[in-house]
Amino acid sequence: MYSHAFSMLFVAFLLLTLAVRFWLASRQLRHVLANRGAVPAEFAATIPLAAHQKAADYTVARTKFGIVTMFINAAVLVGFTLLGGLQWLSVQVFGLTGGGMAYQIGLLVAFAAISGLIDVPIDWYRQFRLEERFGFNKMTPGLFLADMLKGLGLAAVLGLPLAWIVLELMASAGDLWWLYTWLVWSGFQLLMMVLFPTVIAPLFNKFTPLADETLKARIEGLMRRVGFASKGLFVMDGSKRSAHGNAYFSGFGAAKRIVFFDTLLARLAPQEIEAVLAHELGHFKLKHIVKRIGLMFALSLAFLALLGWLKNQVWFYTGLGVSPLIAPGQGNDALALILFMLALPVFTFLFGPLASLSSRKHEFEADAFAAQHTDARDLVSALVKMYEDNASTLTPDPLHSAFYDSHPPASVRIQHLNSAAA
Ligand SMILES: [Zn+2]
Repeated sequence: MYSHAFSMLFVAFLLLTLAVRFWLASRQLRHVLANRGAVPAEFAATIPLAAHQKAADYTVARTKFGIVTMFINAAVLVGFTLLGGLQWLSVQVFGLTGGGMAYQIGLLVAFAAISGLIDVPIDWYRQFRLEERFGFNKMTPGLFLADMLKGLGLAAVLGLPLAWIVLELMASAGDLWWLYTWLVWSGFQLLMMVLFPTVIAPLFNKFTPLADETLKARIEGLMRRVGFASKGLFVMDGSKRSAHGNAYFSGFGAAKRIVFFDTLLARLAPQEIEAVLAHELGHFKLKHIVKRIGLMFALSLAFLALLGWLKNQVWFYTGLGVSPLIAPGQGNDALALILFMLALPVFTFLFGPLASLSSRKHEFEADAFAAQHTDARDLVSALVKMYEDNASTLTPDPLHSAFYDSHPPASVRIQHLNSAAA
């Protein structure tokens, strides 16, 4: 009986999520198209009409593609759960392995392989059709394939040992397995924060220390003013994959580094680069990064505790179209992990705006920090260039933006900066 009720609840949340996403996407399409004809007054002097229209067309194309992938992913989700796909896969892998740990690892690998294969044509289309059409794609099919193979290798080297440890803990660490798993998971996350900038990202891109001496002196001056110590100031060859430009901050402790895409450096004047960097340093100095990591750890503890309870409820499996393997030693835990990963986003989607809201608050704070330590007008002109180069729309639908956007709309951000400059 619980099983049936849980199926119903799952379907209800899935339909609600799809309806909200579809409604927001259609609002976005209408709003962007309605404003396509003219550059908003506050940008009329800085952004040409052609660039504004390109941004509108790019946003429309991406939003439409997002609607298509949303329905594909929903079909895959229902296929795996209520239509019995995961159950079928489980029976096949069980037959091949005879249960136990081999079955569980085999099931995780088979599930990941199928999900990954479904994503390949989607990613391919996005890169070689959508991005290509707007002149952003710089990738060759060979590089796409090489990236995919490296990704697979990394998933095997990092993911398999982690999966094995978690499954061992679930099987033999007793009722508090989720707490030990949380410790392992948190440790893994911290390790990744060190490995990502130093080992993983360099597998995909070349990072060269910033060579321009005048720019370097300017940036080091800024870092001294705000009291930030880092030796890592790198330029990344982002132009190898995409014309989109960006700057980011990664790692912590001795591994922390600031990374500029070469595409961004080529476009911005030195004082604009300094202003963008001041914004990034603001995130660090105002402890946004530490807060985000803390929140991530707290949420994963809560979710693991929830999984600790769910994995013993028969309705959790049967309600999602799977027969649990209750008998000892058969190894039911991989099923629990997969179902949890599949079902969780359906139930948490509607909380997304909270994360967006907190992220936008951090962006305003980092902008204010930049305005305090550099000239706010430099950040404004850098932002205008970045919006134009990335074909980001200046006229998003306000509700769509409030729901999804990690950054405030350009006009609001620039309003705040201009009032700081005045
Ligand atoms: Zn930011």
